[in-house]
Amino acid sequence: MAKIKTIGLLTSGGDAPGMNAAIRAVTRSAIYNGFKVKGIYRGYKGLVTDEIVDFKTQNVSNIIQHGGTILKTARCKEFTAFEGRQQAYDNMRKHDIDALVVIGGDGSLTGAREFAAEFDVPIVGLPGTIDNDLYGTDHTIGYDTALNTVMWCVDRIRDTAGSHERLFFIEVMGRNAGFLALNGAIASGAEAAIIPEISTEVDQLAELIQNGFRKSKNSSIVLVAESPITGGAMGLAERVRKEFPQYDVRVTILGHLQRGGSPTARDRILASRMGAAAIDALLEGQRNVMIGDANDEIVLVPFGRAIHKSKPIDPSLVEILRRLSI
Ligand code: ADP
Repeated sequence: MAKIKTIGLLTSGGDAPGMNAAIRAVTRSAIYNGFKVKGIYRGYKGLVTDEIVDFKTQNVSNIIQHGGTILKTARCKEFTAFEGRQQAYDNMRKHDIDALVVIGGDGSLTGAREFAAEFDVPIVGLPGTIDNDLYGTDHTIGYDTALNTVMWCVDRIRDTAGSHERLFFIEVMGRNAGFLALNGAIASGAEAAIIPEISTEVDQLAELIQNGFRKSKNSSIVLVAESPITGGAMGLAERVRKEFPQYDVRVTILGHLQRGGSPTARDRILASRMGAAAIDALLEGQRNVMIGDANDEIVLVPFGRAIHKSKPIDPSLVEILRRLSI
């Protein structure tokens, strides 16, 4: 394998708080180790359309505290076809880029894997998504900030839920994963979380109501993971209105609120560690791996595992929520 001299860096897919901290860490660790860095704008789109610039240490000054991504992010249809990836590779050659660091979620790492297999490009991925849905890492960059945002929002909704004695369904993001809903429910003292990992097995709503989840309470908050499996907050509210008209039901969909904001200390530190680890991995000759954290240690996860294996919910958390919401 030719010696790596120049590293290209991009953020792709859904943005997540802490991506900037990761950009900073990758750029500075790379320069510290004698590499050149090229910033690629708008994810794979910028690789295909040649939006590539030199990145120096100053390019990443004063960004660690900001949400979003200074490199911008995009979804790129062209990159899902071979011709688009060929164009991306040609632009890499044009800019003498020898390796890539890709910060993104499941889709972005799927693209990275495809690209690396076809063009023999060393790629290291960083898990950047608020959904926390990548296998092989306990946490993804952005998840902790989003979780804190969910908690902050639910605290406020509880004030009005309590005053009006209402049942609130609050829908949170997660793209078919219940991490934000379940941990958000525990952190905010919500009565229940309806998550896709369990929805397939039982009718969670019927169970909640049969168990008399409102017997000792005048108001209730149920967090719902957005997913066709759960039916979403709207779907559940519709059902309650029909089946249990005595309840005064309201819905709040937190939506893109959850994506923004200044990253928490935990996300900034995770992104800094993972960014440095990406450069260490390339120095060691690693390729086509995602950086993960497992029990607070940095680990390397082959792309195939990170993407294809689904990350399980810890059943003890489901039990804790159940016990604490009596
Ligand atoms: P995320 O990374 O947040 O999961 P997406 O699923 O939108 O976001 O994926 C981001 C981009 O990754 C897509 O717009 C596309 O360019 C690329 N991508 C996703 N899946 C593939 C694939 N199977 N082959 C090639 N590129 C892909």
